[in-house]
Amino acid sequence: MPNHDQSHLIFSEAKNLIPGGVNSPARAFGAVGGEPIVIERGEGAYLIDVDGNRYLDYVQSWGPMILGHAHPVVVEAIQTALLKGTSFGAPTEAENKLAKLIIDLVPSVEKIRFVNSGTEATMSAIRLARGFTGRNKIVKFIGNYHGHVDALLVAAGSSAATLGVPNSLGVTPGSVEDTILLPYNNVDAIKKTFQKFGKDIAAVIVEPVAGNMGCVIGSSNFLYELRHWTQANGAVLIFDEVLSGFRAGKGGAGQRFSITPDVTTLGKVIGGGLPVGAYGGKAEIMDHVLPVGNVFQAGTLSGNPLAMAAGISTIQMLQKINAFPVLERKMAMLAEGLEDEARSAGIPAAVEQIGSMMTLFFLAEHEDNSEKYHVSSRTFHGSMVDRSTATSSTGGCFANKITDWETASMCNTQRYATFFWNMLERGFYFPCSQFETFFMSTVITESEIQQTIDAVKEVFKTL
Ligand SMILES: *Cc1c(COP(=O)(O)O)cnc(C)c1O
Repeated sequence: MPNHDQSHLIFSEAKNLIPGGVNSPARAFGAVGGEPIVIERGEGAYLIDVDGNRYLDYVQSWGPMILGHAHPVVVEAIQTALLKGTSFGAPTEAENKLAKLIIDLVPSVEKIRFVNSGTEATMSAIRLARGFTGRNKIVKFIGNYHGHVDALLVAAGSSAATLGVPNSLGVTPGSVEDTILLPYNNVDAIKKTFQKFGKDIAAVIVEPVAGNMGCVIGSSNFLYELRHWTQANGAVLIFDEVLSGFRAGKGGAGQRFSITPDVTTLGKVIGGGLPVGAYGGKAEIMDHVLPVGNVFQAGTLSGNPLAMAAGISTIQMLQKINAFPVLERKMAMLAEGLEDEARSAGIPAAVEQIGSMMTLFFLAEHEDNSEKYHVSSRTFHGSMVDRSTATSSTGGCFANKITDWETASMCNTQRYATFFWNMLERGFYFPCSQFETFFMSTVITESEIQQTIDAVKEVFKTL
């Protein structure tokens, strides 16, 4: 076991200063037991902890670091912006630049508003939808996470689930009484709900590719039905692509599946590692936001020049190197490798992968290939980008054994925890919960992926 003495020392102090020693529960290692390691710095594909251990990083700050850590181009962009001052509370041209880049890449976005986190983005999108429609009810899906917005903090996936706190204290019954919870990927439930409440529903908010109960892919049928029922009833369809934006497809899941939501929420990658969120969509809806409309939403540091610089340089770099097909191919390579090794080792597992997102789910021992898993009939993920460069996937990548929170939550979390610690010991930093997503970055090489598969093979022998 690598030495974690300094991590332990620093984390012990942190626990006296910060609740649980962390500023976000997802990083507390609660679901795998033990203490988090404390990071000293990031270097490309690697994290280096305070004890000097190096880890190949598949967490990437939970999504944003798609170019790896301290990418020279991003660092330079931030430095240039930094020297000019960090915040003015006044318009800057950089905001237009990032807005234009996103509008070009995400087909559903005509106008966009920048905020400081994904949570702010979804909170604002919900308020906008309610203001625009004059209705109260919202629909959310079990196992989808949309940040810690009161009205959305029910059945909210990983952080809540792994801590065994399905609903937060402090969320009043009133703030969730207009929230309708439905199972993910279930077309029937949508139909019934709209037949009953259609004209009262302000918005449906969904992760079109879910990343917060592990990577669980919304079927195109499910997403088409959502578009159909919201449109037919005048409800706003919100795609929460804070995680899947620039990950599930080059313009997010909406672009990949060719479905146009009314509003899209973004975050993570668009900030290049700085705090950013955004919501954007049809101009006629976005123009209901103050100062043109009457839906209030503001932010002292919103659109600040450092975050804009990091976002602009990240997205420009992704475009310049045509990153998306490569990211997808590399993630498919890892997914297939893991699946093959699981099969050889006789370990029941399902690998769900799309774009640069993936989760290795350990199935409950007696339930491999069981009919309990609703195996989806869909065999492709919408309009695949560049099929020629994406590895052909026939196995778990497209098996869709895990389709919703019900199937995800049956997984063997104990086995995942053992797997996690064994991989960490070998220098691989995987998400510290079965219900989180692995990410690929542009700086992870094929030989590093092969090393990962080899290490997984060794670990599988011990499980
Ligand atoms: C991370 C995430 C959020 C919340 O973003 P924060 O920046 O952590 O507030 C919202 N929705 C989805 C889908 C996310 O993955």
